[in-house]
Parts: sequence; structure tokens; C-alpha cells
Amino acid sequence: MLILGLESSCDETGVALIDNEKGLLAHAVHTQIDMHRLYGGVVPELASRDHIRRVIPLIEQVLEEAGKKKEDLDAIAVTQGPGLAGALLVGVSVAHALAFALDIPVIGIHHMEGHLLANLLADPAPTFPFIALLVSGGHTQIMKVNCFGDYELLGDTLDDAVGEAFDKTAQLLGMCYPGGPAVSALAEKGTSGAIDLPRPMIHSPNLDMSFSGLKTAVLTAVKNAENPDDETFRANLARAFVDAVVDVLAAKVVKAMKQEKMKTLVVAGGVSANKQLRNRLVYEMRKRGMQVFFPPIKLCTDNGAMIATAGLERIKHMSDEDINRHFKNLKFGVKPRWRLKEAAADIVG
Ligand code: ATP
Ligand code: MG
Ligand code: FE
Repeated sequence: MLILGLESSCDETGVALIDNEKGLLAHAVHTQIDMHRLYGGVVPELASRDHIRRVIPLIEQVLEEAGKKKEDLDAIAVTQGPGLAGALLVGVSVAHALAFALDIPVIGIHHMEGHLLANLLADPAPTFPFIALLVSGGHTQIMKVNCFGDYELLGDTLDDAVGEAFDKTAQLLGMCYPGGPAVSALAEKGTSGAIDLPRPMIHSPNLDMSFSGLKTAVLTAVKNAENPDDETFRANLARAFVDAVVDVLAAKVVKAMKQEKMKTLVVAGGVSANKQLRNRLVYEMRKRGMQVFFPPIKLCTDNGAMIATAGLERIKHMSDEDINRHFKNLKFGVKPRWRLKEAAADIVG
């Protein structure tokens, strides 16, 4: 079975081909980062237009790389939400047009379920059940994942997402959007403890988190600095920021694992590429005889492979008859705001 995965929820056009037996055959991502950099963030209208330009050539590219024709496709999985409406519409429209022409099913996927299931492309891959830490540009959530489609939200950020905090910190340190990798690299040159930043909600009795106060603390440190351009200061501040974020995430995750009596942790989303977070979570889990899994680095940020994987999982869990009934000749709109719980209800139902 051959599945085409399409992702266009934000500023990456991702296309991938997955075979149920051979795994990931080919994938390609076009990132619009350079285009949006000028504006310090994603400009929705520009994003949609660029997806339109890229998506067909990318589909042709992955088909060629995999030595396949579009007629070989058995199903299409596409990000239906959440994300930018205009950007999502590009992927969803292309998926529908292609599925209609080829008379194959088209499956709408929740973007965060895609991030979560990107871990299934890791070797070794995790097995259910597990605690999931979803850390991306728009989400910071801790979940209990009992099995495919059963996602229970245990904790959430009350304000900014971790990725967003990385991006804002990068901006305050005079670095380009998106700033996660740059802040992480700068932090490597800094000294832990040289600057003290708060660890918001680290001792709160629940699994919720907050990162906007940390961003304000970074801003205050920059404003109060004698020379905010000083290299040592910038590196120490980046280090302090990363240490604070990693401390909070590690504490919350350990709390969740104990509370739910779980032994497996799965980390997903763009920030799961972060070196300091990876090292710390490996350390914390190993110390407790627990396991931690991360997606392959290239599949941490947005991509089509995670969407194709989520589509494949769905198909694996359904009969051919049900697939045709649920996904064939089906037209669906985009869901710019969509809770994972609602998406999962669709799967099980
Ligand atoms: P969402 O998935 O919540 O809709 P998104 O799709 O914009 O949001 P992702 O593509 O999953 O987010 O991740 C992008 C985010 O990950 C950005 O905020 C980026 O700064 C951050 N990021 C990427 N690599 C790293 C890294 N090495 N360290 C820290 N942050 C990183
Ligand atoms: Mg992105
Ligand atoms: Fe994402």
C-alpha cells in the first residue's frame, strides 16, 4: 500500500511517500523561512501562495525519487488542521483533486497527531502506551497516549508555546526567525548559572506550564544589560533561557510519568530537535530506568512523512470497507482550530 502525505499548515510544504511494508520511500520539504524572515514571522497570504507554487513540483519530485507514478497511490493523507486556513486549503484542495482523479481515499490528519506519530519512523520505534511531550511552535502539551487514537491531555501551556518562547528569545538576542536552533547553538557557548532566570510553574501541583513570564524575564535582562551586544552576555542569557526551559519540561515530564506510572516517554514537535532537551531527557529517563524516544532530527519540524504515517496508521486500524465508506468520495474543509481530542474521536468513531 502506497500513501502520499501532504503537509501545508504553516510555512513548510511537506510531501512524502510511505509504503506499508517498505516504510518511508521518499520525502521532501520546502521551507519558506527565508521568505518570511524579512517580516520576523509567518505572513499567511505569502505562505498560501508559496504552497501553491511548491506542492505539485514536490509531489512530482518524491514520486520520481521513489520510482513511482501517481497511479500507484492507494491513498492520500493531508493535514486538515490546525494551522493557517489559507495554507491548509492548498494541501487539502490538492489532495481532493488528486484523490478524485485517481479514485482513491483521502484522509484528513490532525497536524499534532502527525508530529506525535513521526516517532513511529524512528528506529527503534516506541510502543504504546506512553507519555508524550509535544513541544512545537504552537503547542506545549503533555499527553497520555494509551494506544493509537487515544490521546488524553494531562498538561498544557497556559500562554506561550516553548517554540514560540525560543523564537522570541532569539529575536531579543538579535537573531533571525525561527530562532530555536540559533538560541540552542548560542547557549552551548554560555555558562550555566551566570544569569538567573525564573522557572515558571515548576512546582505547581498540576502538569500545566507557562513560558510568557520567562520571555519577559529575558527582555528585562536585555534591557538592564550594560552591553546587550556583548558576546559573553548573549551566550550566558541564551544558556539561562535554555536551562530554564529544559528544567521546567524535565520536571513536568517526570511528574507525569510518576503520576501515570508510565515507563516510556515520546517527545515530538520542532523543539524535540533541541540538543539540550534531548540530552537532559535521556539523562532523566535513564536514571529512572525509563525510556525516551525522539523522532529522527529531520522529521521533528513540519514534514509530509509524519502526515503519511498518521494516514497509514489510520488505514491499518480500519477495514477496506470502512476506509471506502469514511474516506472515499469525501469532501472536507480545513479546520484551522481543531483539538486533537476531537480529531481522535473521528478516528475511533
Ligand atoms: P505547531 O506544530 O504547534 O503547529 P509549528 O508547526 O510552527 O507549530 P514546528 O514546525 O513543529 O512548529 O516547530 C517549529 C518550532 O520549533 C519553532 O518555534 C523553532 O524555533 C523550534 N525549533 C526547531 N528546532 C529547534 C531546536 N533545535 N531547538 C529549539 N527549538 C527548535
Ligand atoms: Mg514551520
Ligand atoms: Fe508543526
